[in-house]
Amino acid sequence: MQLFSPNGINEDFRADLHCHSTFSDGLKSPHELIDLALAIGLRGLSITDHDTTRAYPDALEYAKKKGLLLLNGIEFSAHYQAEPVHVLGYGFCTKSEEIAGLCARHQKRREERNQAILDKLRRLGISILPEELEGVQGTIGRPHIAHLLVVKGIVGSVKEAFARYLAEDKLAYVAGRSVSVEETIEVIHQAQGIAVLAHPHLIKRSTTIRGVLKMPFDGLECYYAHFSIEQVKKWIDLARQKGWFVSGGSDYHGDLKPYNALGSSWVDKERFELLYDRFLAVNFPQKA
Ligand code: AMP
Ligand code: FE
Ligand code: FE
Ligand code: ZN
Repeated sequence: MQLFSPNGINEDFRADLHCHSTFSDGLKSPHELIDLALAIGLRGLSITDHDTTRAYPDALEYAKKKGLLLLNGIEFSAHYQAEPVHVLGYGFCTKSEEIAGLCARHQKRREERNQAILDKLRRLGISILPEELEGVQGTIGRPHIAHLLVVKGIVGSVKEAFARYLAEDKLAYVAGRSVSVEETIEVIHQAQGIAVLAHPHLIKRSTTIRGVLKMPFDGLECYYAHFSIEQVKKWIDLARQKGWFVSGGSDYHGDLKPYNALGSSWVDKERFELLYDRFLAVNFPQKA
Protein backbone atom coordinates (compact mmCIF):
# COMPACT_ATOMS: atom_id res chain seq x y z
CA MET A 1 0.00 0.00 0.00
CA GLN A 2 1.30 3.45 -0.88
CA LEU A 3 0.80 6.19 1.64
CA PHE A 4 0.98 9.93 1.13
CA SER A 5 1.96 12.61 3.57
CA PRO A 6 -0.16 15.78 3.89
CA ASN A 7 2.17 17.52 1.43
CA GLY A 8 1.89 14.78 -1.15
CA ILE A 9 5.21 13.05 -0.58
CA ASN A 10 5.00 9.31 -1.02
CA GLU A 11 5.91 7.65 2.25
CA ASP A 12 5.73 4.15 3.58
CA PHE A 13 7.22 5.01 6.96
CA ARG A 14 5.06 7.08 9.30
CA ALA A 15 5.67 7.84 12.96
CA ASP A 16 3.06 9.57 15.14
CA LEU A 17 4.93 11.57 17.77
CA HIS A 18 2.06 12.58 20.06
CA CYS A 19 -0.54 10.43 21.83
CA HIS A 20 -1.85 9.76 25.33
CA SER A 21 -2.31 6.53 27.27
CA THR A 22 -4.26 5.59 30.40
CA PHE A 23 -1.24 6.90 32.38
CA SER A 24 -2.73 10.37 31.67
CA ASP A 25 -5.99 11.24 29.92
CA GLY A 26 -5.93 8.70 27.09
CA LEU A 27 -8.42 5.86 26.91
CA LYS A 28 -6.04 3.15 25.66
CA SER A 29 -3.26 1.45 27.60
CA PRO A 30 0.29 1.70 26.20
CA HIS A 31 0.00 -1.89 24.88
CA GLU A 32 -3.30 -1.05 23.15
CA LEU A 33 -1.74 2.07 21.58
CA ILE A 34 1.19 0.02 20.27
CA ASP A 35 -1.17 -2.65 18.86
CA LEU A 36 -3.34 0.02 17.23
CA ALA A 37 -0.28 1.80 15.76
CA LEU A 38 0.85 -1.44 14.13
CA ALA A 39 -2.67 -2.27 12.93
CA ILE A 40 -2.93 1.05 11.05
CA GLY A 41 0.54 0.67 9.53
CA LEU A 42 2.60 3.07 11.63
CA ARG A 43 6.27 2.15 11.95
CA GLY A 44 7.16 4.54 14.75
CA LEU A 45 5.35 6.05 17.74
CA SER A 46 5.93 8.18 20.80
CA ILE A 47 3.57 8.00 23.80
CA THR A 48 3.57 11.50 25.30
CA ASP A 49 1.57 11.44 28.51
CA HIS A 50 0.96 14.64 30.46
CA ASP A 51 3.72 15.12 33.07
CA THR A 52 4.63 11.43 33.43
CA THR A 53 6.80 8.77 31.81
CA ARG A 54 5.04 5.91 33.57
CA ALA A 55 4.19 4.16 30.28
CA TYR A 56 7.92 3.44 30.03
CA PRO A 57 10.02 1.26 30.23
CA ASP A 58 7.35 -1.48 29.97
CA ALA A 59 6.04 0.01 26.70
CA LEU A 60 9.55 -0.02 25.20
CA GLU A 61 9.88 -3.73 25.84
CA TYR A 62 6.43 -4.47 24.44
CA ALA A 63 7.04 -2.37 21.31
CA LYS A 64 10.37 -4.09 20.71
CA LYS A 65 8.70 -7.50 20.94
CA LYS A 66 6.01 -6.39 18.48
CA GLY A 67 8.40 -4.70 16.01
CA LEU A 68 7.31 -1.06 16.46
CA LEU A 69 9.93 1.68 16.92
CA LEU A 70 8.88 3.41 20.13
CA LEU A 71 10.56 6.70 21.00
CA ASN A 72 10.37 7.84 24.63
CA GLY A 73 8.39 11.03 25.10
CA ILE A 74 6.46 13.26 27.49
CA GLU A 75 4.15 16.30 27.26
CA PHE A 76 4.95 18.74 30.07
CA SER A 77 2.42 21.32 31.23
CA ALA A 78 3.91 24.82 31.47
CA HIS A 79 2.71 28.42 31.59
CA TYR A 80 3.70 31.63 29.86
CA GLN A 81 2.21 34.64 31.67
CA ALA A 82 -0.74 32.54 32.92
CA GLU A 83 -1.49 30.98 29.52
CA PRO A 84 -0.99 27.18 29.44
CA VAL A 85 1.73 26.05 27.01
CA HIS A 86 2.59 22.40 26.37
CA VAL A 87 6.19 21.29 25.86
CA LEU A 88 7.02 17.91 24.33
CA GLY A 89 10.27 16.15 25.25
CA TYR A 90 11.81 13.28 23.27
CA GLY A 91 14.88 11.05 23.38
CA PHE A 92 15.89 12.16 26.89
CA CYS A 93 17.75 9.96 29.35
CA THR A 94 15.13 7.60 30.79
CA LYS A 95 16.93 7.66 34.14
CA SER A 96 17.18 11.45 34.36
CA GLU A 97 16.69 12.79 37.88
CA GLU A 98 15.75 16.18 36.44
CA ILE A 99 12.85 14.69 34.44
CA ALA A 100 11.73 12.61 37.45
CA GLY A 101 11.95 15.70 39.67
CA LEU A 102 9.80 17.81 37.34
CA CYS A 103 7.22 14.99 37.07
CA ALA A 104 7.07 14.84 40.90
CA ARG A 105 6.56 18.62 41.07
CA HIS A 106 3.68 18.36 38.62
CA GLN A 107 2.15 15.50 40.58
CA LYS A 108 2.12 17.67 43.73
CA ARG A 109 0.89 20.75 41.85
CA ARG A 110 -1.94 18.70 40.35
CA GLU A 111 -3.02 17.23 43.70
CA GLU A 112 -3.42 20.76 45.10
CA ARG A 113 -5.08 22.05 41.95
CA ASN A 114 -7.52 19.14 41.60
CA GLN A 115 -8.57 19.71 45.22
CA ALA A 116 -9.06 23.43 44.53
CA ILE A 117 -11.24 22.58 41.49
CA LEU A 118 -13.36 20.17 43.60
CA ASP A 119 -13.70 22.93 46.24
CA LYS A 120 -14.97 25.36 43.61
CA LEU A 121 -17.41 22.76 42.28
CA ARG A 122 -18.66 22.06 45.81
CA ARG A 123 -19.39 25.76 46.26
CA LEU A 124 -21.48 25.49 43.07
CA GLY A 125 -23.41 22.62 44.66
CA ILE A 126 -21.60 19.82 42.80
CA SER A 127 -20.08 17.15 45.00
CA ILE A 128 -17.11 15.08 43.83
CA LEU A 129 -15.15 13.32 46.54
CA PRO A 130 -11.36 13.12 46.22
CA GLU A 131 -11.62 9.31 46.31
CA GLU A 132 -13.74 9.43 43.15
CA LEU A 133 -10.64 10.69 41.34
CA GLU A 134 -8.47 7.90 42.64
CA GLY A 135 -7.83 4.74 40.68
CA VAL A 136 -6.14 6.50 37.76
CA GLN A 137 -2.62 5.07 37.65
CA GLY A 138 -0.91 8.18 36.34
CA THR A 139 -1.51 11.89 35.90
CA ILE A 140 -4.96 13.09 36.99
CA GLY A 141 -6.26 16.30 35.46
CA ARG A 142 -9.29 18.20 34.28
CA PRO A 143 -10.36 15.50 31.77
CA HIS A 144 -10.89 13.07 34.67
CA ILE A 145 -13.02 15.63 36.54
CA ALA A 146 -14.92 16.29 33.29
CA HIS A 147 -15.62 12.57 32.95
CA LEU A 148 -17.06 12.44 36.49
CA LEU A 149 -19.32 15.42 35.73
CA VAL A 150 -20.68 13.43 32.76
CA VAL A 151 -21.10 10.22 34.80
CA LYS A 152 -23.02 12.17 37.45
CA GLY A 153 -25.34 13.59 34.78
CA ILE A 154 -24.36 17.20 35.54
CA VAL A 155 -23.30 17.79 31.94
CA GLY A 156 -23.96 15.87 28.74
CA SER A 157 -20.39 15.62 27.49
CA VAL A 158 -16.74 16.22 28.36
CA LYS A 159 -16.85 19.15 25.94
CA GLU A 160 -19.73 20.70 27.88
CA ALA A 161 -17.90 20.09 31.18
CA PHE A 162 -15.00 22.18 29.86
CA ALA A 163 -17.24 24.81 28.27
CA ARG A 164 -19.24 25.35 31.47
CA TYR A 165 -16.85 24.60 34.31
CA LEU A 166 -13.28 23.63 33.53
CA ALA A 167 -11.91 25.67 30.63
CA GLU A 168 -9.88 28.81 31.34
CA ASP A 169 -11.99 31.51 33.03
CA LYS A 170 -15.02 29.20 33.48
CA LEU A 171 -16.80 28.64 36.80
CA ALA A 172 -14.49 26.06 38.37
CA TYR A 173 -11.22 26.89 36.59
CA VAL A 174 -8.09 26.90 38.69
CA ALA A 175 -4.75 27.65 37.05
CA GLY A 176 -2.75 26.19 39.92
CA ARG A 177 0.94 26.75 40.51
CA SER A 178 2.88 27.06 37.30
CA VAL A 179 6.17 25.90 35.88
CA SER A 180 7.74 28.19 33.29
CA VAL A 181 8.36 27.19 29.69
CA GLU A 182 12.06 28.14 30.04
CA GLU A 183 12.53 25.87 33.03
CA THR A 184 10.78 23.01 31.27
CA ILE A 185 13.04 23.33 28.22
CA GLU A 186 16.05 23.44 30.53
CA VAL A 187 15.05 20.21 32.28
CA ILE A 188 14.62 18.43 28.93
CA HIS A 189 18.02 19.69 27.83
CA GLN A 190 19.66 18.65 31.12
CA ALA A 191 18.34 15.16 30.35
CA GLN A 192 19.87 15.42 26.84
CA GLY A 193 16.43 15.40 25.26
CA ILE A 194 14.85 17.36 22.41
CA ALA A 195 12.31 20.06 23.36
CA VAL A 196 9.42 20.66 20.95
CA LEU A 197 6.72 23.32 21.29
CA ALA A 198 3.41 21.41 21.16
CA HIS A 199 0.46 22.49 18.98
CA PRO A 200 1.37 26.20 18.50
CA HIS A 201 -1.90 26.46 16.50
CA LEU A 202 -3.85 26.31 19.79
CA ILE A 203 -2.03 29.13 21.61
CA LYS A 204 -4.49 31.97 22.04
CA ARG A 205 -2.46 35.09 22.80
CA SER A 206 -0.07 36.57 20.23
CA THR A 207 2.16 37.74 23.11
CA THR A 208 2.50 34.11 24.21
CA ILE A 209 3.46 32.94 20.73
CA ARG A 210 5.98 35.76 20.36
CA GLY A 211 7.42 35.04 23.80
CA VAL A 212 7.78 31.28 23.48
CA LEU A 213 9.18 31.41 19.95
CA LYS A 214 12.17 33.31 21.38
CA MET A 215 12.95 30.41 23.69
CA PRO A 216 15.56 27.73 22.96
CA PHE A 217 13.24 25.06 21.58
CA ASP A 218 14.67 22.45 19.21
CA GLY A 219 11.46 21.78 17.33
CA LEU A 220 7.91 22.86 16.52
CA GLU A 221 4.89 20.53 16.25
CA CYS A 222 3.78 21.74 12.82
CA TYR A 223 1.67 18.81 11.63
CA TYR A 224 -1.03 18.46 14.28
CA ALA A 225 -4.34 16.63 14.59
CA HIS A 226 -6.83 17.69 11.91
CA PHE A 227 -5.10 20.86 10.68
CA SER A 228 -4.78 21.04 6.90
CA ILE A 229 -1.57 21.65 4.99
CA GLU A 230 -2.64 25.30 4.43
CA GLN A 231 -3.11 25.74 8.17
CA VAL A 232 0.26 24.22 9.07
CA LYS A 233 2.33 25.91 6.34
CA LYS A 234 3.05 28.99 8.41
CA TRP A 235 4.44 26.83 11.22
CA ILE A 236 6.60 24.78 8.84
CA ASP A 237 8.04 27.98 7.32
CA LEU A 238 8.76 29.31 10.80
CA ALA A 239 10.45 26.10 11.98
CA ARG A 240 12.60 26.05 8.83
CA GLN A 241 13.62 29.70 9.31
CA LYS A 242 14.76 28.88 12.82
CA GLY A 243 16.44 25.63 11.82
CA TRP A 244 14.08 23.75 14.17
CA PHE A 245 12.87 20.18 13.85
CA VAL A 246 9.51 19.97 12.00
CA SER A 247 7.46 17.64 14.17
CA GLY A 248 4.06 16.02 13.81
CA GLY A 249 1.57 14.06 15.87
CA SER A 250 -2.12 13.37 16.26
CA ASP A 251 -2.57 14.03 20.01
CA TYR A 252 -4.75 10.92 20.00
CA HIS A 253 -6.59 10.39 23.32
CA GLY A 254 -8.89 7.49 22.37
CA ASP A 255 -11.87 7.06 20.13
CA LEU A 256 -14.48 8.38 22.54
CA LYS A 257 -12.87 11.79 22.77
CA PRO A 258 -13.21 14.49 20.15
CA TYR A 259 -9.60 14.18 19.08
CA ASN A 260 -8.08 12.99 15.88
CA ALA A 261 -7.36 9.42 14.95
CA LEU A 262 -3.99 7.92 15.74
CA GLY A 263 -1.71 8.46 12.74
CA SER A 264 -3.64 11.51 11.45
CA SER A 265 -0.41 13.54 11.74
CA TRP A 266 3.07 12.09 11.58
CA VAL A 267 6.72 12.45 10.56
CA ASP A 268 8.65 10.48 7.97
CA LYS A 269 11.58 8.08 8.46
CA GLU A 270 14.32 10.67 8.14
CA ARG A 271 12.81 12.98 10.72
CA PHE A 272 11.89 10.15 13.08
CA GLU A 273 15.46 8.91 12.99
CA LEU A 274 16.81 12.30 14.06
CA LEU A 275 14.98 11.83 17.35
CA TYR A 276 15.32 8.06 17.63
CA ASP A 277 19.09 8.26 17.13
CA ARG A 278 19.25 10.67 20.07
CA PHE A 279 17.22 8.25 22.21
CA LEU A 280 19.63 5.41 21.34
CA ALA A 281 22.80 7.49 21.79
CA VAL A 282 21.67 8.82 25.20
CA ASN A 283 20.27 5.58 26.59
CA PHE A 284 22.31 2.86 24.90
CA PRO A 285 25.70 4.51 24.17
CA GLN A 286 27.42 1.13 23.92
CA LYS A 287 25.19 0.22 20.94
CA ALA A 288 25.21 3.59 19.18
P1 AMP B 1 -4.98 19.71 32.56
O1 AMP B 1 -3.61 19.20 32.18
O2 AMP B 1 -5.51 19.05 33.79
O3 AMP B 1 -5.02 21.21 32.64
O4 AMP B 1 -5.96 19.29 31.37
C1 AMP B 1 -5.60 19.64 30.04
C2 AMP B 1 -6.12 18.59 29.08
O5 AMP B 1 -7.54 18.66 29.04
C3 AMP B 1 -5.68 18.81 27.66
O6 AMP B 1 -4.44 18.25 27.39
C4 AMP B 1 -6.76 18.11 26.88
O7 AMP B 1 -6.49 16.72 26.84
C5 AMP B 1 -7.99 18.32 27.74
N1 AMP B 1 -8.85 19.42 27.29
C6 AMP B 1 -8.59 20.75 27.31
N2 AMP B 1 -9.63 21.46 26.82
C7 AMP B 1 -10.58 20.56 26.48
C8 AMP B 1 -11.90 20.64 25.93
N3 AMP B 1 -12.45 21.83 25.63
N4 AMP B 1 -12.58 19.48 25.71
C9 AMP B 1 -12.02 18.29 26.01
N5 AMP B 1 -10.80 18.14 26.54
C10 AMP B 1 -10.08 19.26 26.76
FE1 FE C 1 -4.72 15.60 27.19
FE1 FE D 1 -1.28 19.34 24.65
ZN1 ZN E 1 -1.32 15.97 24.11
